[in-house]
Amino acid sequence: MNFDYSVQFGNRKTFGIVIERDKSILVKVPKNAKNEKIDEFVNKNKYWIYKKLNNKQKYKDIPEKEFVSGSSILYLGRNYNLDIDSYNHEGIKFNGKFLLSKKERENVNKLFKKWFMQKSEEKIYPLVKVHAKNLGVEFNKVGIKDFKYRWGSCTPNNNLYFNWRLIKAPLSVINYVIIHELTHLLETNHTKRFWNIIKSQMPKYEEARNWLKDNGQVLEIEFESNQTRI
Ligand SMILES: [Zn+2]
Repeated sequence: MNFDYSVQFGNRKTFGIVIERDKSILVKVPKNAKNEKIDEFVNKNKYWIYKKLNNKQKYKDIPEKEFVSGSSILYLGRNYNLDIDSYNHEGIKFNGKFLLSKKERENVNKLFKKWFMQKSEEKIYPLVKVHAKNLGVEFNKVGIKDFKYRWGSCTPNNNLYFNWRLIKAPLSVINYVIIHELTHLLETNHTKRFWNIIKSQMPKYEEARNWLKDNGQVLEIEFESNQTRI
């Protein structure tokens, strides 16, 4: 399950959730709130949020993927095949397809997370620099995180964090999330001005935003962890 929510840090002692008119979710938190606490709060209120959103779709568990040759893996918006061999090589090899040793079955999710996190650093950091320059903003630092319910975040100290699963999405979607978070350095709230700034950088940003709304869940699919051997 995924919520594309934004966080607003402020001078308050309690946590709160606001569903805005365009159905985007705003979580209001104290200035020093930790990411884990924010996720926990959203998680606790997920059914309330679903009800508020009038979501016709019921809460669904994320499907799992089978660890077999021919399984497809999403990376930068494209599906690549998984190939499993019997050799004793370490980690993941990628060369138009993903190659893994059969003996890595138990570690597969951990290995992919590590691989995707590394790719996120390689691809997202330079893009953040480019978009920051285009927007004329300065950020403090950028990092990749294991967020549960967010694609990106911008903290009160101007640090930017991105969900490692984002690297599975098409580049236009990644660019949208980066521009979105950087725009928060200019405008904290999702005001008309906020969306106008985004539009100036990415006229078709709504396509990317909708892609995330429709496909966000797909980015969370992992391999079955307790597959029984036959
Ligand atoms: Zn936002």
